[in-house]
Amino acid sequence: MLNLLNERSKKLFTDAKRVIPGGVNSPVRAFKSVGGDPVFIKEAKGAYLYDEDGNKYIDFISSWGPLILGHAHPSVIDAINTQSYKGTSYGIPTELETKMAALVVELAPNVDKVRFVNSGTEACMSAVRLARGFTGRDKIIKFSGCYHGHADPFLIQAGSGASTFGMPNSPGVTPSSAKDTLIADYNNIEQVSSLFELNKNEIAAVILEPIAGNMGCVLPQENFIKELKDHCHDNGALLIFDEVMTGFRLALGGAQEVLSIDADLVTYGKVIGGGLPVGAFGGRAEIMDYLAPEGPVYQAGTLSGNPIAMSAGYAMLNHLKENPNVFISLKDKTTYLANGINKILQQISIPYQLNKMGSMISLHFTDEPVVDFKTSQKGDNEYFKRYFHAMLANGVYLPPSAYESYFLNDAITYEDLDYTIHSLSKVLDFIIN
Ligand SMILES: *Cc1c(COP(=O)(O)O)cnc(C)c1O
Repeated sequence: MLNLLNERSKKLFTDAKRVIPGGVNSPVRAFKSVGGDPVFIKEAKGAYLYDEDGNKYIDFISSWGPLILGHAHPSVIDAINTQSYKGTSYGIPTELETKMAALVVELAPNVDKVRFVNSGTEACMSAVRLARGFTGRDKIIKFSGCYHGHADPFLIQAGSGASTFGMPNSPGVTPSSAKDTLIADYNNIEQVSSLFELNKNEIAAVILEPIAGNMGCVLPQENFIKELKDHCHDNGALLIFDEVMTGFRLALGGAQEVLSIDADLVTYGKVIGGGLPVGAFGGRAEIMDYLAPEGPVYQAGTLSGNPIAMSAGYAMLNHLKENPNVFISLKDKTTYLANGINKILQQISIPYQLNKMGSMISLHFTDEPVVDFKTSQKGDNEYFKRYFHAMLANGVYLPPSAYESYFLNDAITYEDLDYTIHSLSKVLDFIIN
């Protein structure tokens, strides 16, 4: 069962490691947390990935979110092709950027103005700088297990014991960056409340994934975000929703719409670029106008608002706007998959939790509900590794880490889901023994 043909992928990985650190350009791709060698992809179409050894997989990561319509969707590909003949970049304004911005402003609640960047990291890092410039304060609160990209202020973990200061969780991040990032547990409003208490008039912003997707899929508990917003406003801090994952995936209006809560600033990435490198951050005009060249907070990008990237993003968002049933379809498919997985796993004695929201879903091998990073860490990684590899060998590409959620794409069919559920039933013995 586990005889996946992977001669060529193995060789390509060896070659890659000679010239790229760890052989990859983003760590999770290297399969470190599940072991084994990564597969190298040759091409993809719709719901399917094809690797260099000729194996076909149903894709449950969709490039970590962007490809909500599946790979090589005609409307996105056409837009890219059409634009590419007109030139790839000018560094001079285009009407396309305004069209794209107007569409984001129309679809995203509470966003008057938006600035485009090239990644989710850039969006979050810029939103935090803007919040600091706007409030004239230095500190931010982030939550353990929430990921906001790899900029220094976010690579921080909780300090030890009673310490309220964060500590760098990567060499190269300085203690002076860390001291301005305060850490709380997700879904723990008391901790937030005491951080505000201990840092009066010093906190510029609270940033969070309103529905978390980087410690598995973890939902905010009743009133958590509403109370968070009240704390921010009582203390003159901004609330930043990192919707890089949830924006244009959970709904056209993202988590703001799903939760009926407006944030002060919102960051986007992933779906917004249709598979090209795009990020964005937006909010009320009074805040956004603090950005250069209108205001004093500097932020820039040679390739920001790149015409090909804008064309792809515009085609994607426009398609979603015109076909809002995509979100219902995705939600139904995700529920169908979850029901199927439940039915299989209930037959055995392994403890597990299945978390989901919209088209995001995660499976944790633990008997405790997964509500924050600590409970997510209790998942049994040995079960997860075997589960991952057994599914891969059966042609189902799941996220190669227990801390990531699946991202369904709408090209996945019910037949694909049946196949996936059936594959799980076939590999159960392998997982538990
Ligand atoms: C992926 C992600 C980011 C970082 O985006 P990149 O484009 O990888 O830089 C930030 N926040 C969240 C919630 C993400 O999922």
